[in-house]
Amino acid sequence: MNLKNFTWSVDADGIALLTWDMQGKSMNVIDESVGHDLNTAVDAAVADPAVKGVVVTSGKDTFSGGADLTMLERLGQTFKDAIKAKGPEAAMADFFEQSRAYSLVLRKLETCGKPFVCAINGMCLGGAFEIALACHARVASDNPKLRVGLPEVKVGLFPGAGGTQRVPRMADIQSSLQMLLKGDQLKADRAKAMNLIDEIVPADKLIEAAKARLKAGVDPVKPWDKPKFKLPSGPVYSAGGMMVWPPANAIYRKETYDNYPGARAIMSAVYEGLLVPMDTALRIESRYFASVLRTPQAQAMIRSLFVSMGALGKGLRRPAGVPASQLKTVGVIGAGFMGAGIAYVTAQAGMDVVLIDRDVEAAEKGKAYTHKLMTDQVNKGRATSAQREALLAKIKTSADYADLKDVDLVIEAVFEDPAVKADVIKKAEAAIRPDVVFASNTSTLPITGLAQNSVRPDQFIGIHFFSPVDKMMLVEIIMAQKTGDKALAVALDYVKAIKKTPIVVNDTRGFYVNRCVGNYIKEAHLMVMEGVPPVMIDNLAKQAGMPVGPLTLNDEVAIDLGLKILKATKAQVGAQAVDPQQEKLLTFLVEKEGRVGKKAKKGFYEYLDNGKKTIWPGLKAFVGSQQDPDAIDRQEIIDRMLITTALEASRCVEEGVVTDPREADVGSILGFGFAPWSGGTLSYIDMIGTKAFVKKCDALAAKYGDRFAPNKLLREMAEKGETFYGRM
Ligand code: NAD
Repeated sequence: MNLKNFTWSVDADGIALLTWDMQGKSMNVIDESVGHDLNTAVDAAVADPAVKGVVVTSGKDTFSGGADLTMLERLGQTFKDAIKAKGPEAAMADFFEQSRAYSLVLRKLETCGKPFVCAINGMCLGGAFEIALACHARVASDNPKLRVGLPEVKVGLFPGAGGTQRVPRMADIQSSLQMLLKGDQLKADRAKAMNLIDEIVPADKLIEAAKARLKAGVDPVKPWDKPKFKLPSGPVYSAGGMMVWPPANAIYRKETYDNYPGARAIMSAVYEGLLVPMDTALRIESRYFASVLRTPQAQAMIRSLFVSMGALGKGLRRPAGVPASQLKTVGVIGAGFMGAGIAYVTAQAGMDVVLIDRDVEAAEKGKAYTHKLMTDQVNKGRATSAQREALLAKIKTSADYADLKDVDLVIEAVFEDPAVKADVIKKAEAAIRPDVVFASNTSTLPITGLAQNSVRPDQFIGIHFFSPVDKMMLVEIIMAQKTGDKALAVALDYVKAIKKTPIVVNDTRGFYVNRCVGNYIKEAHLMVMEGVPPVMIDNLAKQAGMPVGPLTLNDEVAIDLGLKILKATKAQVGAQAVDPQQEKLLTFLVEKEGRVGKKAKKGFYEYLDNGKKTIWPGLKAFVGSQQDPDAIDRQEIIDRMLITTALEASRCVEEGVVTDPREADVGSILGFGFAPWSGGTLSYIDMIGTKAFVKKCDALAAKYGDRFAPNKLLREMAEKGETFYGRM
């Protein structure tokens, strides 16, 4: 049999073993040829009377993470080309057939008359789990890393090869919807409890157990292909169904604000599919899959959240020709809030850390953060106390810069004060080897200015983390004027080692991410001053797809920090760089009322002891009067928040701060959650269309001022009908 990705062997009992083991790849991924191979294997099983049943398994450490999403990206592009070549109707028909080819193969497997058992040895997600679901039984190994699930919704997609139909025919409807809409990855015991897995066996008995099942007899006809099939939670139109569907719809709206075509399609496909027999249900699913795949949201999300993020993680921006760095020990100076987190993630990545502060007590306090995080893990059963001790042993605390003599990289996270930083740079450079790169984690001070304190400015760079360091996946790397390739390579190698996603930007005040998020928060401040009800601002931001409203976000990052940055900007750039209304609001909150944010339980919100928050009533009194919420144009509020943020990204492109749209998009989603449905700040502009975007900006500028005036680049692009991705 001619299989490209699988091996096939039949034992003396007539049980075929179909092992998925893609050549030249470390993991199995679904591409066009995998569906083709499965089709061939099903034909072979049916044609050979000696084959009594088939065990499907993987020859890799894991089963498979699912589809190669670049394949789906290509499918989208082929569709656009086909529209031009054949017209929309013929293109649609072709697209529908192509996008359901894989689903039809799995249905053929399911109905071929011979029993298939899937032996799941590790991670089995997306289209790979859909193979497992199409099989007639599933045996999983007790590998603690094993996860099964359909995470497509997370990249704007939708499980299109039977997942939305088979899961709710096997599991109860609530659990099914939750799993599909959240894209949850389930451990084996949870999957078994949901009836998605039949048996969990020791890893070394996996194939044996799958074969034993076949020998004992596995029904090759699925329950739903028999006349008296009953859904696990009963019919949709029943008393039970009516207890589920109306609230499910409400929860869906609350969770997604209807921003994600993929999530909406899951709701519809499950609901409609459960009313009809399986073949029709799969056709319904395929229709939704094809329509979701064509949406700009899915295309943008696949591009940013999968393709671009993957490329950045693999070192898209790493200069060629610089040998891989050997980072064994990293020096972290400043063991405060950020330094403590940096020490933790560095040690977690297997590197040793020298953690320095002004005295050993302060350094120890920073190290205690690792103790706390690990103790939480131990209490949750996710780590052992021996692992905690081993990690702590990797962090050496000190107040003596001489201890930096053997480090391979230094990251400073001391007070945000140029004089303190200058002193630290001098002391550290006197202690480290001449080839070692020095990185600053400053969030507001331009790196070029700090590099003036360095005797080797080509080895000076910004490595900007986001808080909390252990949770935030983005790291912004900042190139100062004289930063060289080696420093960039070392910084990227370090970020890769700690398994975070880097973006590389050129130096400017606020860099890229904080410039954008600063605008988002500033617009909210100005709206407060105009009398827009504050809670409405936060709620509309969430409706627009932002994970956190701007006022809540400001409370979380601290309002006094915002005022400090405003004052520094005024002093260094001039009064015109600061909006007086924003300054008035922040000065009042911080200096008059001591409302510095969540850390003091007093910010835009009051933080109550029961964990809830309510808006601070004094805000209304300060502003004077509030607008009638019913008279407010909600879409305009949403536009103001998203447009001001995206416009700043466009300015960063024009100024050369950002040089690749993929970095702007990924940075905006990972850095502050910019409406993920849009694919990020620049994808958002591209999606609206530069011409329409400029028109919206002009209208807002006429009403609210020059901050909405489109930059020159945008106007040029609008005139030429260009997009960022087309142009860059
Ligand atoms: P922090 O005040 O919590 O910690 C600063 C630490 O530096 C303190 O432990 C202090 O004792 C120590 N320190 C001060 N002078 C020192 C010296 N001369 N030698 C050694 N240690 C010294 O501050 P933080 O919030 O951790 O911020 C640190 C840096 O990270 C700043 O540059 C800040 O802009 C940047 N940053 C902060 C955040 C954030 O959310 N807090 C995010 C990104 C970047």
